[in-house]
Amino acid sequence: CGIVGIVGSTPVAPLIVEALKRLEYRGYDSAGVATVEHGKLERRRAEGKLVNLERRLKSEPLDGFIGIGHTRWATHGVPNEVNAHPHFSKDVAIVHNGIIENFAELKAELQKDGYEFTSQTDTEVVAHLVSRELARGKAPQDAAFAALKRLEGAFALAIMFRGDEDLIVGARNGPPLAVGHGEGEMYLGSDAIALAPFTNSITYLEDGDWVVVRRNEMQIHDMSGAPVERKRTQSVGTS
Ligand code: GLU
Repeated sequence: CGIVGIVGSTPVAPLIVEALKRLEYRGYDSAGVATVEHGKLERRRAEGKLVNLERRLKSEPLDGFIGIGHTRWATHGVPNEVNAHPHFSKDVAIVHNGIIENFAELKAELQKDGYEFTSQTDTEVVAHLVSRELARGKAPQDAAFAALKRLEGAFALAIMFRGDEDLIVGARNGPPLAVGHGEGEMYLGSDAIALAPFTNSITYLEDGDWVVVRRNEMQIHDMSGAPVERKRTQSVGTS
């Protein structure tokens, strides 16, 4: 149960795995990474320990400079590769910690609209919700915000889009999520320990916050959509 996102300047998959290892203490049953490369969303997922994911990445590397990663502690759907995150819906990739309490209702609504589910997770509804907002013509960050407004429950989320390789949207309502500030790179992670190899400059989101993360800027918003300021701290280095 951990989240990492990197808008980077080199291939990010190895960095994401390194950060996920630092979140192993939180416990997990499967793991995955997705990147956007050459305009395509690609992912590798594996049941069990991170070494399994590393083995997969070694035989089939991911080359994207933007990516999200996840260690899963299953709550809805057995721990297997199909239920491992990231989850995709067309041009949207997401990772999630926590539980979407109203997922059954959202799933029924999305299925009626023709969205097909490939996993047993509560998480997959979020991917389809964002995708549906994109299909309705919203820009990526507006689509993410519209989807977030529909969610009930506890979540930390990272959302990535094919078509904008300089954007990850993060959100927090319960489980922790922090932004790490880099030089021409920006990071998201469940805690400062995960991001310590990259930066000590950290801004924790508060519950109800969502954030637009790009290489050279980040902006936190509240659930009314208004920009908010949160304190940036220098965490004590543990790297
Ligand atoms: N509820 C989600 C699932 O079962 C996320 C679990 C987690 O926090 O890792 O896939």
